[in-house]
Amino acid sequence: MGKPITSQIQPELLARENTVYSVCVPLAQFKRLAKLLNDTQGDFTAECRFSAFDANTKVSGQWQAELSLVCQRCLKPIAFKVDVPFQLICVESEVEANELSDELEPVILDDERKIHIVDLFEDDIILQLPDVARHEEGDSDCTVGKMEFGKLPDTIKSEKRNPFEALEALKKDLKN
Ligand SMILES: [Zn+2]
Repeated sequence: MGKPITSQIQPELLARENTVYSVCVPLAQFKRLAKLLNDTQGDFTAECRFSAFDANTKVSGQWQAELSLVCQRCLKPIAFKVDVPFQLICVESEVEANELSDELEPVILDDERKIHIVDLFEDDIILQLPDVARHEEGDSDCTVGKMEFGKLPDTIKSEKRNPFEALEALKKDLKN
């Protein structure tokens, strides 16, 4: 376990201490991410280290979250677990962000060279979301189509039999 982190941080100051920090933020605090989730139960957690990277500060480590999405096949909730390494470069402007090489992911600090912990991670979390959320192939939770393609419910079967029964009854009436 690392040192807990405050919500507003100044990365270059944290880089002076050779310390691993622990982040734990309720998913509901990520407002843009929350709009993409089925529900916002649970926390985002990360262990991160701050270090100097040229004139900037690098934040690196590993983050975890269990994100609730909606399966696009059966429209039921699906738990999407993420446990990934990350490496973010803190820059001061959009221009500076564009100057970084493509494999480096920038985050832009405010005028006081600070950033909110939510803003530090939100884009990275959104990038991890699948284009289309779906249960694994063959997952028994993914039960779309059973009503359409499987057994007909009993009520429909008995309704189908009724016209013939009525006809039989009519024939009997006619004979009598
Ligand atoms: Zn499904």
